[in-house]
Amino acid sequence: MRNILVTGGYGFIGSNFINYLLNLSSHESYYNKIVNFDKVTYAANSLNLESVSKNSKYSFVNGDICDESLFYKTLIKFDIDAVVNFAAESHVDNSISNPDDFIKTNILGTYKILNAAKLYHSENKKNFLFYHISTDEVYGSLNKDDNAFTEDNQYQPNSPYSASKASSDHLVRAWHHTYKLPVLTSNCSNNYGPFQFPEKLIPLTIINALSGMPISIYGDGLNIRDWLYVTDHCSAIETILHNGKIGEIYNIGGNNEKTNMFIVESICNELEKIRPSFQNPNIKDGSGYFDLIKYVDDRPGHDFRYSIDSSKLSKNLNWVPAESFESGIVKTVKWYVDNQNWIDSTIKK
Ligand code: NAD
Repeated sequence: MRNILVTGGYGFIGSNFINYLLNLSSHESYYNKIVNFDKVTYAANSLNLESVSKNSKYSFVNGDICDESLFYKTLIKFDIDAVVNFAAESHVDNSISNPDDFIKTNILGTYKILNAAKLYHSENKKNFLFYHISTDEVYGSLNKDDNAFTEDNQYQPNSPYSASKASSDHLVRAWHHTYKLPVLTSNCSNNYGPFQFPEKLIPLTIINALSGMPISIYGDGLNIRDWLYVTDHCSAIETILHNGKIGEIYNIGGNNEKTNMFIVESICNELEKIRPSFQNPNIKDGSGYFDLIKYVDDRPGHDFRYSIDSSKLSKNLNWVPAESFESGIVKTVKWYVDNQNWIDSTIKK
């Protein structure tokens, strides 16, 4: 698995994954080609891959995963050994206001590249792998005392986003069982870290706080998510890519269940340490980051709790996350504070 095609490589996790594969010194001689196949939607940012853009192993193809023919040609052109499919519409709020793009990219797009992969596997490369990146949201919502999601949980998606991801997971499964396409799927909890488009809770909170804008929390702020630092997701994906059992599903989580309110308060605390509000010209005299918090109407159908049991991955493939939430959030807040240029590049969109 030396020539890897990453779909959605200009997005948050895809770009972290490409940076992870090409920047680690132990990987330098291992991978031959890393191809980023991305349609460049509003969520894409070429700055995310600035550090590898001149690397001779890196290539970019401007393409839509709904374009089966271009995808097939790209597999052949770069002699791809494995596809890692990150490309998706990923924001739940957008899926509620405009589900169309979610149905097109997440369902139709996955179907198109599965077809291309099936042809490539049968005609061009037997030793090929299709790795599909999915989410814990496909399992639905938990109550406070329910057990964490295992790979055997029933799919009960509640939002157009999670329903579209669930559909794509089923297609991947069917292409394995029916056509013997070698596949892997992982379902991961909420990621955070550098390069996350500021529509999602953590970067949005940091950026709004820095600019003195209101920090919105849905409902009572008590919804619970499990949080994983993005490079831990990348290390889990690489582990599964090389050692996962074909046809299997792996849950990935960080053992960090936190309420949204806790997340926002942690960010405010961290910002007060590294960029104190009294030194921030955007914050009114005498107030602090906490004063920007405001509670807004809940998101329709808002899942109460996600919790992921990743013991299959840790027991079978020896993977454990390197970051705790406490260490990851410090790195994350610092990264956004230090990267105003990147923030500006997203605001212009
Ligand atoms: P993102 O929205 O930041 O990036 C998506 C990328 O996909 C963008 O670069 C975009 O241009 C590209 N893209 C969109 N439609 C495309 C198409 N039709 N063809 C080609 N490229 C297209 O998303 P993300 O947060 O990095 O998520 C990546 C994957 O991980 C998604 O499949 C998502 O469901 C999954 N996931 C995300 C999280 C999370 O917390 N962000 C958690 C679990 C799973």
